[in-house]
Amino acid sequence: MMQPTLRCPCNLTYCQTVFRYDTPPPGEMRFDIGAQMYQRSYLRCALCRHWYSDNHLDLSSLYTRAYVDATYGDRFQATFRRILALPPECSDNTARVARVLEFVRAFPVVGRSPTLLDIGSGLGVFPYRMKEAGWDCTVLDPDTRAVQHAETEVGVRAFLGDFLAVNPEQVGVFDLITLNKVLEHVVDPVGMLERAAGFLRPQGHVYIELPDGEVASHHGPQREEFFIEHHHVFSVESLSMLAERAGFLTLSVERLHEPSGKFTLCAFLAPKSVSPTAP
Ligand SMILES: [Zn+2]
Repeated sequence: MMQPTLRCPCNLTYCQTVFRYDTPPPGEMRFDIGAQMYQRSYLRCALCRHWYSDNHLDLSSLYTRAYVDATYGDRFQATFRRILALPPECSDNTARVARVLEFVRAFPVVGRSPTLLDIGSGLGVFPYRMKEAGWDCTVLDPDTRAVQHAETEVGVRAFLGDFLAVNPEQVGVFDLITLNKVLEHVVDPVGMLERAAGFLRPQGHVYIELPDGEVASHHGPQREEFFIEHHHVFSVESLSMLAERAGFLTLSVERLHEPSGKFTLCAFLAPKSVSPTAP
């Protein structure tokens, strides 16, 4: 498997192994790893404090079926409805929608509904809430069941596929692209994020959420931020490096302790090169 990279100037030379695992931490999804030995670790860069997973297990089938099987099984609809019914103070999504709506007040869209592309939509609670707020929502997910669920239950336009393999002619261009806890799952998050610029309308923005390794690590190696499916766990510094390398300005960064318990960094980004053409 390819080594995770942040295209970081220190190029892994300042990294030290901080956490080692020879058995899955409690709560981690059990993937079918066949005859492979469970063994992995996390390295941390002493310079930017970014965390890299060092993991030689073959995880290639993870996002086609195994991830969704392990996460939701066939309980898509039931899980969606349960999360929708959470009281606002218990819902990560309620706070996320509020952050996004507050941010976009500075960039009002006139004469039409603002448009959202949510990449890696999973259950689709976030686009559902954004649709309620008057947004025209589109989702993209690599799992067929997530896409079916998005069309029938969430009621949004949905595309099946890997973001690295689709183009704006198929999917469209948007006022806001969201990558909520997506980039840590890919080996090269810079490569994925840099593609987002091509799917933005003029004045468009990107919102990202990433696991916060700095705060999570103070609570030990068993934290979900360090589970097997993450190739990367971020610091404030490495978040801005990711954005910079992918061609974005970091407009704001916030450190969250979410109602679900997750330690998260979130940021709003703007492309460095703004298209001169009007919408
Ligand atoms: Zn570094």
